[in-house]
Amino acid sequence: MEEEGTIEGKILKGIGGFYYISDKDDVVHECKARGRFRKDKIVPLPGDNVVFSPQEGEKYGFIEEITPRINQLKRPQVANIDQVIITMATRSPNPDLMLIDKLLLTASIADIAPVVCINKIDLANKKNAKELAKQYSREYPVHIVSAKSGKGLRSIYKVLRGKTTCFAGQSAVGKSSILNALFKELELETGVLSKKTERGKHTTRHAELIKLNKVGGIVVDTPGFSLLDTGEIEPVDIGKHYPEISNISEPCKFSSCLHKSEPGCKVKEAVESGEFSTERYERYLKIIDEVEKGRKI
Ligand code: GDP
Ligand code: ZN
Repeated sequence: MEEEGTIEGKILKGIGGFYYISDKDDVVHECKARGRFRKDKIVPLPGDNVVFSPQEGEKYGFIEEITPRINQLKRPQVANIDQVIITMATRSPNPDLMLIDKLLLTASIADIAPVVCINKIDLANKKNAKELAKQYSREYPVHIVSAKSGKGLRSIYKVLRGKTTCFAGQSAVGKSSILNALFKELELETGVLSKKTERGKHTTRHAELIKLNKVGGIVVDTPGFSLLDTGEIEPVDIGKHYPEISNISEPCKFSSCLHKSEPGCKVKEAVESGEFSTERYERYLKIIDEVEKGRKI
């Protein structure tokens, strides 16, 4: 609710206690948070929708209120992400499908809609890319693109429309290149070497939200999306985040079924009938195993 003299906006970035808030007309306001936020241990994050008192004259403004978050990521520290584009390359680097599956799991746990993107189609033959896509296309939107040739990018453009989006995936798969190809004005750094030399391997960067006015969306400039911490999920809950498992209408014989080799397991049947990709199921088993051993996945 707006009080007199206050405005609604969205935090794009925070640096050293200052927050840069975009209002509905895309005017950016420099603000600090009211002292009571610190007292309540609330740190405003990029992505937060806020009510603020704008600056007057030379002075900065103040954040008065933070709208409850729909979700929140730890790394990068951002809030209210609608979707994550989980990106892999056909090759160079070769796809790490275990990582893709873990990112899909993390997205589901964080309540963020996942989209799968296969980039560098110019480097692969179509058949290989289709095989790769097949493991996911039943359950997730899959886009096959090339940042280099421009193929398929129109569909990514549509995905970005009206949403706040974060990219995730191995480095060098082309996340920055895809954004640069769609929005020339962004000029994000590309190429692993240049990124590393400029920043240093261990330098943490603060995430910043970039408004894409042309498409009416927002992207997070830092590819991120950390994996889960140990203990955040019980093995028996993992299947709930696999659409292939949760969409099976008939329940397994045991409600605590981990779908390993229990009798009366409907998931096993789905694998046998080809409804659930064997490769993805095998990786699911590995993830269960890692979580059971208490490892961070
Ligand atoms: P990021 O780390 O995921 O952001 O990856 P970058 O965007 O920095 O890209 C890594 C390297 O892959 C760069 O040298 C890009 O020029 C190259 N690259 C990105 N997309 C494509 C593509 O579709 N095809 C080809 N052949 N190379 C690409
Ligand atoms: Zn089962």
